[in-house]
Amino acid sequence: MRAKDLNRYLGDLGWRQPPVPPQMQVKESGAAKADSETLQNLAASAAGCTLCRLSDHRQSVVFGEGDENAAVMFVGEGPGAEEDRTGRPFVGQAGKLLDRMIFAMGLEREEVYIANVVKCRPPGNRDPKEDEVAACAAYLDRQIDLIRPKVLVALGKPASRRLTGTAKPMGALRGRWSSYRGVPLMPMFHPAFLLRNPKAKRDVWEDLKLVMRRLESTSE
Ligand code: URA
Repeated sequence: MRAKDLNRYLGDLGWRQPPVPPQMQVKESGAAKADSETLQNLAASAAGCTLCRLSDHRQSVVFGEGDENAAVMFVGEGPGAEEDRTGRPFVGQAGKLLDRMIFAMGLEREEVYIANVVKCRPPGNRDPKEDEVAACAAYLDRQIDLIRPKVLVALGKPASRRLTGTAKPMGALRGRWSSYRGVPLMPMFHPAFLLRNPKAKRDVWEDLKLVMRRLESTSE
């Protein structure tokens, strides 16, 4: 997608985007429609995206996957090595734990939708930078608008900060409802954090129960 197309797109959505630095504007990529109306169109636009430096070394654009009518949409931070290699979100060790979290909710992975704040792998698995998150913002927003889940789950700090629009620590964000683009939002610890801090699984289970209760109350 060209920078000018994305800006037009963001304008349509009522967004203000920070100026795209000149070094990100040099490369033009494949055909991108500003008015993509389906997830497939949007994925095709993202596949050619060169809006930020993360496109320089990627093997895959990891757009997201799952049920387009999912009640729950999980948003992680960005692809790791395994995701970059396969083009699928959350397929490494953290992904296996996310699968277990989904199963604990009484759902299958295929029944939810899984995406990331940035669609290309940050080198060395570092956190995505602010301008990279901004460059990818319209893709995630459009995904959320197209899926319209009943609940959004932000996994970890970059996703929680991006979707709550705050810079608070995870301890202050997790377990508290807010909303993003009209969708109830629940931040919780990232599965990769849980692999390093198993005791935090208890907190995640409490947060997952809040999500389950919310889903039950909306299906009545
Ligand atoms: N895999 C992803 O797709 N996203 C993350 O945030 C971590 C691992």
